[in-house]
Amino acid sequence: MKTAVYPGTFDPITRGHIDIGRRGSGIFDELIVAVGSNPHKQPLFSLQERLEMVRKELGDLPNVSIDSFKGLLVDYVKSKGTGIILRGIRTVADFEYELQMALTNRKYGGDIETVFVMASEEYSYLNSQLIKEIAGMGGDVSAFVTPGVARALRERLGSSRQEGEA
Ligand code: ADP
Repeated sequence: MKTAVYPGTFDPITRGHIDIGRRGSGIFDELIVAVGSNPHKQPLFSLQERLEMVRKELGDLPNVSIDSFKGLLVDYVKSKGTGIILRGIRTVADFEYELQMALTNRKYGGDIETVFVMASEEYSYLNSQLIKEIAGMGGDVSAFVTPGVARALRERLGSSRQEGEA
């Protein structure tokens, strides 16, 4: 049984995250999507809200479970009885950051391996931060997130414009 942990902030979950989660569920026997907090990021949505959104978008997959974690990722991964982390890579910038993280986690965590899945080309430019900025200015984000997440963004950011409007 190969179990992997797919960690992220998911603030909010985008079509790019969903794509990696679904592809990961096809690669591993079990996939745990682990919603955490990144110390460099101040999330727009609470942990509970992010968990709920991830559950709606990926909870239909029978071998996927959704959880939250605090503290060091390697400790969480080990507590789940596995040593595999799944991450997505979009750009060269992602690669540099992810390489440092993967090597640090391996050094610190011993036998932890990080498996990378390349973003699908249609999602390779998607980034939660940009989506929040677009939604905050009343832009249409329906190409980037599901309708439920787009609604949550509109409600949170107070935009009065509707999806599909120019
Ligand atoms: P973190 O704060 O841990 O970087 P994110 O929620 O930003 O969490 O991202 C979680 C994972 O999903 C990361 O591996 C990131 O590279 C990947 N990811 C984010 N957006 C996309 C996308 N559009 N396509 C593929 N992978 C993505």
